[in-house]
Amino acid sequence: MRRWIAALVAVVMVFGAVGMESYASSQDLQKYQEQLKKLQSDMKKIDQQQRQLTANQKSVVQRIGSIENSIRSVEGEINDISDRIVTTEGTLNATLMELANAESKIVEKKDTLNQRLRVMYKTGHVGYLEVLLGSFNFEDMLSRMDMLQKIYEHDTTLLEYMQQQRDLVEEKKKALEEQRASLVSLKSDLSSKQKKLSQDLTSLDTEQQNLKKDIKALEAQEDRLNEDAKKITSLIAKLKTTEKYVGGKMMFPTPGYTRITSPFGNRLHPVYKTYKMHTGIDIAAPSGAKIVAALDGKVIYSDWFGGYGKVIMIDHGGGIVTLYAHCSSLVVKAGTKVTKGQTVAKVGTTGVSTGAHLHFEVRQNGKYVNPVPWVTG
Ligand SMILES: [Zn+2]
Repeated sequence: MRRWIAALVAVVMVFGAVGMESYASSQDLQKYQEQLKKLQSDMKKIDQQQRQLTANQKSVVQRIGSIENSIRSVEGEINDISDRIVTTEGTLNATLMELANAESKIVEKKDTLNQRLRVMYKTGHVGYLEVLLGSFNFEDMLSRMDMLQKIYEHDTTLLEYMQQQRDLVEEKKKALEEQRASLVSLKSDLSSKQKKLSQDLTSLDTEQQNLKKDIKALEAQEDRLNEDAKKITSLIAKLKTTEKYVGGKMMFPTPGYTRITSPFGNRLHPVYKTYKMHTGIDIAAPSGAKIVAALDGKVIYSDWFGGYGKVIMIDHGGGIVTLYAHCSSLVVKAGTKVTKGQTVAKVGTTGVSTGAHLHFEVRQNGKYVNPVPWVTG
């Protein structure tokens, strides 16, 4: 969005306000002032965007802080649950041992009982035979059997008790396993939450980085607009200086090259292919050829200027200004006093141009005039 506006401003700067064919009128003080107004309104927009971005940045920083707190709290919970899992597992292991112990004791007791059963069976059986044979004390046998029966019954009760105890341990084991399972699932949920929070944090970090970049880009844009405004302001100041015309006859600005490929006045524009006012004359000259001051004067502009590319403007006093456009390089700086014939730039094809040539203009009191009568005759 800001880049879009920045691009628009750049386009307006190059092709609108300081466009090639509208240059003649834009050079007027009023035009400069309009450009300044536009620049100031663009700067206002940028200022609003900066405020918005700064507010966004503040909110992102706050969200980052709150997510970092959440992450810390989730990490604390995870640690607690991990501890509880360890504790539960310890208890579970002890219970498992308890269970194994109880079971082995039960097996032992069952063995004893089986042995007793066998003894009882044998005794009972033998006793019966002996009773039948009448060679054994029957009462002794009965009391012995009775005693065995009592021991057996006691052992059976004990076994039942042991089995009940085993069942209790079994229940405890089940409860512990359930507890562990729910803790593990809770931990897994918390880990997912932690992961999600980390992702949120990463995306917020990215957002913050992007905001920083956007703010930086806006600052650069603002700097450029300020620079443009400064340029136009200084140009206006220079245009206001009224000095007496230095006088004399202008010389051709490209020594050795005098062929005019495009005259002053209405013509079909070579790039835009529409009939437009040609505000100067185009002189055929190779790239790098010298461009000289047509007359004594003071350089009032030496810089890039929209579709004109690199431009020199020389004030000759009395409202007469000459302009040299599409230069490949500029030799003198703004403010320099130059004499007629002094090299001020080199021929080139910068800005909106189809090839190396010099676009030469003469301005008289803010209006463009045909330069031909000024340099010939
Ligand atoms: Zn031209």
